[in-house]
Amino acid sequence: MGQEGESDNISEILYDKKYTCPVCQKKFTSKKPRHSKLRLKEEHGDFFKEYEQLNPSYYMVNVCYHCGYAYTDQFSSPKPAQIKEIKEQVSENWVPRDYGSIRDFQMAVESLKLGILCGQLKGEKYNILATLLLHTAWIHREAQDYNNEKRFLNLAREYFLKVYQEDTSGQVDLPKLLFLLGELSRRLDKRDEALSWFSKLVSDKGIKDEKMINRAREQWMLIKKEKERQSGEG
Ligand SMILES: [Zn+2]
Repeated sequence: MGQEGESDNISEILYDKKYTCPVCQKKFTSKKPRHSKLRLKEEHGDFFKEYEQLNPSYYMVNVCYHCGYAYTDQFSSPKPAQIKEIKEQVSENWVPRDYGSIRDFQMAVESLKLGILCGQLKGEKYNILATLLLHTAWIHREAQDYNNEKRFLNLAREYFLKVYQEDTSGQVDLPKLLFLLGELSRRLDKRDEALSWFSKLVSDKGIKDEKMINRAREQWMLIKKEKERQSGEG
């Protein structure tokens, strides 16, 4: 008994979006979720939104059926030298495969990994690559593959660190970035590192994002308590 706009039927939640591949110029479609139809189940500390019906991360990467170029709607359009690189590194080995249908876990992992590869080949922004790595960690968490979750959380952390150190575009949401660096470190058992990121966020006088500051304060306390408990156990 869903309310209006809600559905449990995956084929009703997804729609076909048409793309023209920026590498080979051919047309293909990719499924995208209608966010208005998704019911939130839980939001995790690292911003992973778990929905009841499906995981939108499965559909964030568009994979061209014809040449294998994989990208998100946030990628900038590739320059001629980048197109050449992608054709040599990806398209030449590509066996046409259709990612335009409903994706299972395996297809989702493949599409995200291809997206990360193509993003790296074309030198996409660190923020975009870090986000793809984070989504790859989340789908492994959901599938209870915790080794791969940690592997991708760590890679995401490394790329978010590059964003912090090198992205001077001014488009970065600094409070959210600092919080994520703290939270990913915490989830990877790097507690002292986590504490220092959360402290940075809480003590930066220029940051006015109260919500993020409070979240950082809560996580900071959580780690302090964990540390006390462990030292108490000897
Ligand atoms: Zn293509």
